[in-house]
Amino acid sequence: MKALARYGKEFGGYRMIDVPEPTCGPEDIIIEIKAAAICGADMKHYKVDNGSDEFNSIRGHEFAGEIVKVGELVKDWKVGQRVVSDNSAHVCGVCPACEQGDFLCCENKVNLGLDNNTWGGGFSKYCKVPGEILRIHKHAIWEIPENVKYEEAAVLDPQLLQGNRTAGASPSGTGRSRIWNRPLRTLRSTGGKDHGRCEHRDGRSGRRHKGSFRCG
Ligand SMILES: [Zn+2]
Ligand SMILES: [Zn+2]
Repeated sequence: MKALARYGKEFGGYRMIDVPEPTCGPEDIIIEIKAAAICGADMKHYKVDNGSDEFNSIRGHEFAGEIVKVGELVKDWKVGQRVVSDNSAHVCGVCPACEQGDFLCCENKVNLGLDNNTWGGGFSKYCKVPGEILRIHKHAIWEIPENVKYEEAAVLDPQLLQGNRTAGASPSGTGRSRIWNRPLRTLRSTGGKDHGRCEHRDGRSGRRHKGSFRCG
């Protein structure tokens, strides 16, 4: 299958490559990607040639699709479910954030499709959500309500990011002020019953802000 991958640790390095379809282990889930959003974190590497031949990752951390395979030990998810990523990532499970269930704020988080990893993200035909992620954090993915399109679900993640407000942070630098309250409305309109969590890196300092909010 085709995949948009990034090479090297420096900015840039996009290449369209051929990769094997992911195999499904006993605790894994395979998602057929139906829509994937392009984040600012993706755009900043666009049209930059860093010259590296070191594989980084298959990109795409905001994606939605249909579960097409589940491992024999998977109990929480089933084939045919429509799901969306939630900054899906490996988390440590033992840091203060993880102990409180704030998995998206884990200090040791490694994102699918964003950070240097071998799992791969949504800029391809299939994406594996590994059991080692789901074992700690079942809601590394969320089921999409019937009245929400894949394209709409795929952009929920950046909207959630915009919902994060940090005391003392100027909203003008990141655009948060314009749409910070939109995710709350979006999730309510989509019938989201649980709570969303989010994180954001300050656009200027690169410092990670943390926060969460509840809705619905
Ligand atoms: Zn993003
Ligand atoms: Zn953690």
